[in-house]
Amino acid sequence: METAAVLKADAYGLGAGAVGPALAAAGVRSFFVALAEEGVALREAVGPVPAIYVFAGLMPGDAPLFEAADLIPCLNSPGQAADFLRELPGRPCALQVDTGMNRLGLEPAEFDAIAGDLARLAPVLAISHLACSDEPDHPMNASQAAAMTDFAARLPGVRLSLAATGGTLLGAPFHFGLVRPGVGLYGGMPFAAASPVVSLSLPVVQVRDVAPGEAVGYSATWTAAGPARIATVSAGYADGLLRALGNGGFDLLAGDVRCPVIGRVSMDLITVDVTGLGSVPAMLDLLGPQQGVDDLARSAGTIGYEILTSLGPRYERVYKGGS
Ligand SMILES: *Cc1c(COP(=O)(O)O)cnc(C)c1O
Repeated sequence: METAAVLKADAYGLGAGAVGPALAAAGVRSFFVALAEEGVALREAVGPVPAIYVFAGLMPGDAPLFEAADLIPCLNSPGQAADFLRELPGRPCALQVDTGMNRLGLEPAEFDAIAGDLARLAPVLAISHLACSDEPDHPMNASQAAAMTDFAARLPGVRLSLAATGGTLLGAPFHFGLVRPGVGLYGGMPFAAASPVVSLSLPVVQVRDVAPGEAVGYSATWTAAGPARIATVSAGYADGLLRALGNGGFDLLAGDVRCPVIGRVSMDLITVDVTGLGSVPAMLDLLGPQQGVDDLARSAGTIGYEILTSLGPRYERVYKGGS
């Protein structure tokens, strides 16, 4: 059983150019991206050896990218299979089959339609994706694993892959020949042994004392009830801090002390109530041991994936460990 790594969306916003080589040095031999263009960039970062699979498969006009960067399409439809045989004959491919999610992949009847081409396609891998793997008791998990096993009978000798992070945690019946976690590599989805992967500290630009009755920020939506100390911090909705979360929707941390974000979130700035702090540090933490990606996602009514992929290019990214 092999563990591959999913690096779509620039390694979930963390920077595939740094994450890819570190994972390759740690022994990852197979990568997955969503789009051919992402595969081209990843190939430059990781060199010629690892396999790079593309979930979206072979899209019109992309054949030269697959050839030049030695990418493997996950063929999703009879049309993609036909394009592949015409445009990239003899190159490696994978098949994506639908086991119930109804998003990408060949339906059983579509699979039957290309059965006569299987020898020429010679897929090196067949993948499918679980719709409900973050709910261990959801009946779709077992039914999708059973559907995968049905496909296996029609794909003798072909390696299979069903599990992303959630499916990997569901256990051996979901692992087949290759698991392909993404978010679990980047500190998302809580499981007992997970340690924080991503931390994010934001610089304080200015601190001011406000008197009772004074307002802070656009539209004066927050007013000091008593004497308060406000830190203005350099990050805003252009950096993935959702504007809808203004006025108390999330906290920054100074060590263990929670400091609520008050007033509106601006494009480049937020204002934080630091009244409770004896002295205001140069940086306040958005992500770290006290507040992980999933904690922040819960405050925002979203999932860790969206937090990570929304962070944007303005943060200085510092990579620790790896090579
Ligand atoms: C995004 C994705 C993954 C990785 O999912 P995680 O939940 O981040 O582990 C795996 N397979 C497919 C098809 C995906 O789209």
